[in-house]
Amino acid sequence: MADNIKSEIEKRRTFAIISHPDAGKTTLTEKFLLYGGAINTAGSVKGKANSKYAVSDWMEIEKERGISVTSSVMQFNYDGFCINILDTPGHQDFSEDTYRTLMAADSAVMVIDASKGVEAQTIKLFKVCVMRHIPIFTFINKMDRDAKDSFELLDDIETVLGIRTCPINWPIGSGKEFKGIFDRKAKTVRTFEAVSTGGAKSAAETDYAIDDPELRKIVPDNLYDQLVDEIELLDGASDELDMEKVSKGELSPVFFGSALNTFGIEIFLKYFLEMTSSPLPRMSDEGLIDPVSEPFSAFVFKIQANMNKAHRDRIAFMRICSGKFNADKDVYHVQSGRKLKLSQPQQIMAQDRQVIQEAYAGDVIGVFDPGIFSIGDTITMPGHKYEYEGIPTFAPEHFCRVIQLNSMKRKQFVKGITQIAQEGAIQIFQEFSAGMSEIIVGVVGVLQFDVLKYRLENEYGCEIRLEALPYEYIRWVGDPSTDVTKLKRMNNVKAVKDMKGNPLLLFVNEWMIRMVLEDNEGLELLEFKKN
Ligand code: GDP
Repeated sequence: MADNIKSEIEKRRTFAIISHPDAGKTTLTEKFLLYGGAINTAGSVKGKANSKYAVSDWMEIEKERGISVTSSVMQFNYDGFCINILDTPGHQDFSEDTYRTLMAADSAVMVIDASKGVEAQTIKLFKVCVMRHIPIFTFINKMDRDAKDSFELLDDIETVLGIRTCPINWPIGSGKEFKGIFDRKAKTVRTFEAVSTGGAKSAAETDYAIDDPELRKIVPDNLYDQLVDEIELLDGASDELDMEKVSKGELSPVFFGSALNTFGIEIFLKYFLEMTSSPLPRMSDEGLIDPVSEPFSAFVFKIQANMNKAHRDRIAFMRICSGKFNADKDVYHVQSGRKLKLSQPQQIMAQDRQVIQEAYAGDVIGVFDPGIFSIGDTITMPGHKYEYEGIPTFAPEHFCRVIQLNSMKRKQFVKGITQIAQEGAIQIFQEFSAGMSEIIVGVVGVLQFDVLKYRLENEYGCEIRLEALPYEYIRWVGDPSTDVTKLKRMNNVKAVKDMKGNPLLLFVNEWMIRMVLEDNEGLELLEFKKN
């Protein structure tokens, strides 16, 4: 393999940022892009409810609501690295795509609000990272606000998430008293100066040796003494930085800072880029596929419908797993057995989408999809027929019964809802006794109900009503041949099947799941469904 392919791949770092809404994911992403020179002003990454501009402003419903439904990928260069940040939609637009995006990442950055600790959505996303055994780096944000005790925050991460932590740096005070961070390896203190705008890179960041008399002028005695005590405590009691454990997602390196003030970002990037790896071999049904020595291969992790309303087109997003993608060459779509050229391949550089000619393992490209790709599909070079491991189906958390209002349009309705389900925006289930007249729809994020209603009306001319159901938990029955009608303790539990006939159970709370498991020996219930 040509040397430049090797070096292109080795400089790639592809990661996702996970967090609970409002922890500061957007602000942090923006600061990364500022460092990479990919954008010039803060405030350009994504539009929230009242913003005029959004990077991924593609779907009509996005524009109506002013939020981003699609998860985008941002690429920029920094310090010799080529960085791909995969955006995991998190607010109202939280969806199964948020989880799927994590399947395309090589590592994750977990942003935690220092005043709140670990929050609900972080836990959900964290579980997916753990399932994949990818490295998880923690950025404890908003240190310029009153924060919880730093040891308490670490304890929270360790007990709630069950991952060990290793602080790489350590804060001195918080809120108005936030003075800076101590770099445990360099044994220096970087002092914090609040900057008024989120615009440019931070004001001059100054490093002092821990025993520098100048530092004593900046850090009050009580905080200095506290720092010295805490360093001692950390050196004695915290986990050593064991890169083997980091790489398996068993130990999370922890950093502190303030994204809004662009503080702690440079140090974070420096250590993160050193510690996280370039694209690693990925498992296929023919064994591990090496990113450098193997020719181009990729898998589809997301399909976005209707990016251009006039054409009703779809874009398939694929993560390149090996080699170099060349837009002029034929590729092989393993699932259909067809040779084809990927049409209009594009990449997103900060705000812009651009058509590209080449890309490398670690990159994500979006290609025009004439309706042949499904989530999880493998693309290789002709002559290679291996398939990457499928993308699991994630458990929806909101359920509605769908009532079709115009029974004359039965065919369109069935076609529409089946297609939308195939694209992966919703999951559809049937009760055991009923036919297609009783459809239950499950979604990961409630916005998908609106998307479903909107698309059925606009694309298929079908009006529907959605009736909310009280269930919040779904579990796949481990052994699909289980007769679920014979299970015990099933009052308030609904048994359904997916489109392939696999049995599932719907529960209103987690307690009920435990009850059913207790009363039905040997029953296995799964949160993810491997495809
Ligand atoms: P996201 O929902 O995780 O993407 O969070 P945002 O980046 O949109 O941040 C949510 C809010 O917290 C915004 O008002 C930010 O300006 C604010 N914020 C983000 N980082 C910091 C920080 O380090 N300090 C303070 N004080 N506010 C922050």
